[in-house]
Amino acid sequence: MKKMIPILMLSTLAACSSNSAPTSSPKKPTTNGPKNIIMVVGDGMGPAYTTAYRLFKDDPTTIAIEPTVFDDILVGRASTAPARVSGYVTDSAAAGTALATGHKSYNGAIGVDVNKAPLQSVLEYAKSLGKSTGLVVTSQINHATPASYVAHVEHRNQYDLIADQYFDQRINGEHVVDVMLGGGWDYFIRKDRDLTQEFQQDGYQYINDYAQLGSIKQDKVLGLFADSGLPWALDDKQPQRLRKMTIAAVDALDNNEQGFFMLVEGSQIDWAGHANDIASAMAEMDDLAHTLTWLKDYVASHPDTLVIVTADHSTGGFTIAANGEYMWQPDVLKNLKKSAQHISKRQVKRGFSIEKINKMLGFTLTEQETNTLRAAHKEGKKALYSALKHVIDGRTNTGWTTGGHTGVDVPVFAFGQNSDVFRGQQDNTDIAKNIFKLLGK
Ligand code: MG
Ligand code: ZN
Repeated sequence: MKKMIPILMLSTLAACSSNSAPTSSPKKPTTNGPKNIIMVVGDGMGPAYTTAYRLFKDDPTTIAIEPTVFDDILVGRASTAPARVSGYVTDSAAAGTALATGHKSYNGAIGVDVNKAPLQSVLEYAKSLGKSTGLVVTSQINHATPASYVAHVEHRNQYDLIADQYFDQRINGEHVVDVMLGGGWDYFIRKDRDLTQEFQQDGYQYINDYAQLGSIKQDKVLGLFADSGLPWALDDKQPQRLRKMTIAAVDALDNNEQGFFMLVEGSQIDWAGHANDIASAMAEMDDLAHTLTWLKDYVASHPDTLVIVTADHSTGGFTIAANGEYMWQPDVLKNLKKSAQHISKRQVKRGFSIEKINKMLGFTLTEQETNTLRAAHKEGKKALYSALKHVIDGRTNTGWTTGGHTGVDVPVFAFGQNSDVFRGQQDNTDIAKNIFKLLGK
């Protein structure tokens, strides 16, 4: 039965994409819209995250709180509620589908509407126009947000089916995405199918180490660098992995005269939010900020490019201050050598050493904090991870209200050609609708 789904879905999809694009000759864009469109999603990056990032990066020796790259590009705000059937609080699948297709759907939906019928994404439409397409993410490349731009499945957990669709779908006889960079060996190299082999047989370059990002020779590339998500920025050998992958992807994509559409996702801001891990959240934000700084330089020399940045929702109910105290102190987040998760794992493996924990944290724990951690260490790595996060929350006075998502509006940023279209209050579906319009649909 499971085998039947892809065939079914693909036949409906073929009908869906042929409505908008003749299979023989790609039609040229009919508007004066931007040649290149880069959609950037900070997964889970609600307004508290961009504010906290400003305070985290503040130079405390100056009176001013220095603005960040986000402050320079803010244009508006977006509501995020999913289809009515799922209430007011969205997951990344429904939000990704809204941002990708302009349609609200139920939580869990990947590129399908409330009736589970496939919806065309802006990426698919761009491909049908003859543009090149790319996906650059720090999660597995078939995770909810990127999947919403490429796949059409009933539920986000159908990871293998989503991966299959990345290969099996065709637009004008070509695979949907030309450049894919992120994690995902577990889903693309399986017992039943090795999609890395299949892509290579179809002319894709396959790379599996960041070091190879500099030696991409083809316009079609599949780059997978981890089993599922990439390591936390704090633990990765390449902490600016999103920036590095983005540079490599743009380099491969911008050879096309017709331009390109690319999705870039800082996927793990959300994961840090779910874990209530402020140190990792700020490190993930930092990778995204460096990526945006590079994109600003790129647009300065390629003014026919539009970059839109938003979040799909906020995560964790993160608050800047807690417990009735008017204080937030991000200074202790600045010298971490590794994530709290990594420190906990290592401590449980090798035995409790307060000297090593202090060294990894970049600050000295008090006796009371040490005792709390020693007690948690006896219970295992999960308890120690949790205790470490509580110590850091206590030091910074960070608050959290949930391990899930919240329903607040999210910031919208844009720069480059036609960026004024995204000004003011809008719905997440308006972002896709406007991208379709700029593509001439
Ligand atoms: Mg995501
Ligand atoms: Zn999430």
